[in-house]
Amino acid sequence: MIIRNGAVAISGAPRLIRTDIQVKGEKITALGRDLPSDGEREIDASGLEIFPGGIDPHVHFFDPGFPDKEDFFHGTAAAASGGITTVIDMPGTSDPPVINKRNLEHKRSIVEPKAVVDFAFFGGVSAQAYREGFPHWMRELAPLVPAFKTYATSGSTAFERLNHYQYSRVLEVARELHRPILVHAEDADFVLPATEDLREKENTPAAFAATRPELAETLAVFAVSEIAETLQAPLHIVHIGTARAAEIVAGRTTTTGETCPQYLAFDIDDFERIGSPLKITPPVKGPEEKHLLWNYLADGGIDFVASDHAPGTRAEKNTGSIWTDYAGIPGGPTIYPYLYSAGLRSGRLTLARFLEVTSAAAARRYGLDDRKGRIEVGMDADLTFVDPTAATVVHGADSPSKGKITPFEGMRLHGRVQITIVRGSVVYREGKVLSAGGTGRFLAPRNGE
Ligand SMILES: [Zn+2]
Repeated sequence: MIIRNGAVAISGAPRLIRTDIQVKGEKITALGRDLPSDGEREIDASGLEIFPGGIDPHVHFFDPGFPDKEDFFHGTAAAASGGITTVIDMPGTSDPPVINKRNLEHKRSIVEPKAVVDFAFFGGVSAQAYREGFPHWMRELAPLVPAFKTYATSGSTAFERLNHYQYSRVLEVARELHRPILVHAEDADFVLPATEDLREKENTPAAFAATRPELAETLAVFAVSEIAETLQAPLHIVHIGTARAAEIVAGRTTTTGETCPQYLAFDIDDFERIGSPLKITPPVKGPEEKHLLWNYLADGGIDFVASDHAPGTRAEKNTGSIWTDYAGIPGGPTIYPYLYSAGLRSGRLTLARFLEVTSAAAARRYGLDDRKGRIEVGMDADLTFVDPTAATVVHGADSPSKGKITPFEGMRLHGRVQITIVRGSVVYREGKVLSAGGTGRFLAPRNGE
């Protein structure tokens, strides 16, 4: 296949370069002007911008276990529709949880035939896994997973939180295995008593948010990253929502962090107005935080962006109380269009930072950078084509995801994803998902030991 006349985000170039891309099999095999025709398929990308396929390094596809919320076909189809070519799925929201190799292989056998885009799995260390299989389960999973997810406060009785002592033990093993520990950073000593105190007193988004304020996040980020720093063990903070947390992360030597579009786009006033469709944990924060988060993202203090895609069903999102409404949004299809529009096109992110936060940085952190995250000869032909002159208006009802309720509803974005290619296969084109599953492949990290 030869892709002609696109404006291409070639690795290391300060601006888009007009060039052809030759793809043979699954790889990029040549870049240059006027490449000779090889008699195979050609795509005319005149007027389009071509970027490395987006990596969404934090999704919950609930498969196997909770097909009413999402499954791997719908989750990966939605990702492809939004320019994502690789996802990394969380361990604690499928059943059984990916806390050992047996459960990982079970999950892989079920989801791989459904996958539209490439995927990896995070392993997990719950309190249950700590009691039953630690550290053996971490060691057997390490060659297969890029990192291990944990919770400082957990909303799931099937996947309980770790305490500080357990974090220190788990981080020691993470250091030995060269696998980061991912932490959902909200302090249980704040969140649990606050919830007991405030729950049922007032059925408002503000009351719910008051159980998980900025301080609940920064206490957990400080404590767990202090343990990691002391041990010089690799740590990664997921879905950062506060500037103070980003500041703490930026000051550590072994800790990285991600934020999500929902923390860059919305604040507590939006939560009051929108309600349940914007209910997430951690909740969105004060109005000043999102501007500061953009600054950290622009200067590298926050490493990359993830969607935390986690749809609830219509019933789960409409229980009649903000306390029991499901916490999670279907962010997968909007992460890339949002960052393109609000980041690159608005000038908040340079082209180099846009490429880092949408693909390259996550590929490096998770050992996929030998295949993913750059447009270069020899890399996987994972490509996202954007029409810069078109617009995207977000309509949850049109999304291939099972999750239709999105806080981005009605948002108008500059640019539109036109084509998504995964290892040389066109899986999405102009509004249509062209794969019925099976085009995505399981990815193990490169640095196995
Ligand atoms: Zn999550």
